[in-house]
Amino acid sequence: MLLSKVAEGKETTASVKGNPVVISTWDAGLKANKGAWEVLSKGGRALDAVEKGVMVTEASKNCCVGLQANPDRDGFVTLDACIMDEHFNCGSVAFLERIKHPISVARRVMEKTPHVMLVGAGAQQFAVAEGFPLEEQKLSEEAQQNYNEWLKESKYMPPAINIENKKEHGPFAPAKLSNGEWNHDTIGMVAMDTHGNLSGSCTTSGAGFKMRGRVGDSPIIGAGLFVDNEVGACTATGQGEDVIRVAGSHTVVELMRQGLSPEAACKNVIQRIIKIKKEKANDIQVAFIALNKNGQAGAYAIHEGFQYAIKAKGVEKLVNVKSIIKKKNA
Ligand code: ASP
Repeated sequence: MLLSKVAEGKETTASVKGNPVVISTWDAGLKANKGAWEVLSKGGRALDAVEKGVMVTEASKNCCVGLQANPDRDGFVTLDACIMDEHFNCGSVAFLERIKHPISVARRVMEKTPHVMLVGAGAQQFAVAEGFPLEEQKLSEEAQQNYNEWLKESKYMPPAINIENKKEHGPFAPAKLSNGEWNHDTIGMVAMDTHGNLSGSCTTSGAGFKMRGRVGDSPIIGAGLFVDNEVGACTATGQGEDVIRVAGSHTVVELMRQGLSPEAACKNVIQRIIKIKKEKANDIQVAFIALNKNGQAGAYAIHEGFQYAIKAKGVEKLVNVKSIIKKKNA
């Protein structure tokens, strides 16, 4: 039976050994997974699937991914993305402006340069040389409204990333769109293809109203994304600074190498972040999603409310992810 609604109960893992599977962050992942599935279901490569999948989100209306996202403090949308395949090949772009599909530029960096990461004007120059069109530098109507609102107070710190309660966490916590969908941060995706190979991708506009030039975890290999084809793959969403300081995704994969399940590995790193942040953990969200070599998926978050989307043969759903900190009124 195909499900495209929130899974009931506390289930957070799905074992799909032997079949392709794709997981991705937030409910935007449902549509992104469909994009990836077009590749995976035909026996295609996980690398192609994770690129195609997150392109769906990059092209859609989203507060935190692609050119329609919220801008930085100076009013510019700047994008970060990275991709990694089953051979430790990886590519990344950061602080990239006016390019619709940063994930595809990251892939070109991986495939066509001797480097892993290009940033800013250099990344844009490379993208244009590779034939990517330079889009107009113009905020979407919604992002412009959000920016105008933010300018009223121009608080130096961006508000807490991706915690859903606006009353507690400010006006730029993710909102529900008129079509009923949540408008969330960052799409991170990891997939296993029919050959059992893993790949991952991650793309974002980062924290809304960030300092100009700020780069989070999402384009940093080892922080926002890591793939080791012998062990598993992981991607992150949430407060990037706190993912970077524990080399989050790499640490999750290393813990899976030591025998932890994907969920236990994600939980371990979430606990590490909480230990470092102490009471400040109340104001930040971080979540990891991971897939091991057996096709088992798992995730963990600091705060309740995070979901990931999974698609495999006969499975298509959102999973409510366990967290350390529960909602006050829960
Ligand atoms: N991790 C992203 C960043 O810090 C934002 C997010 O996932 O919400 O740039």
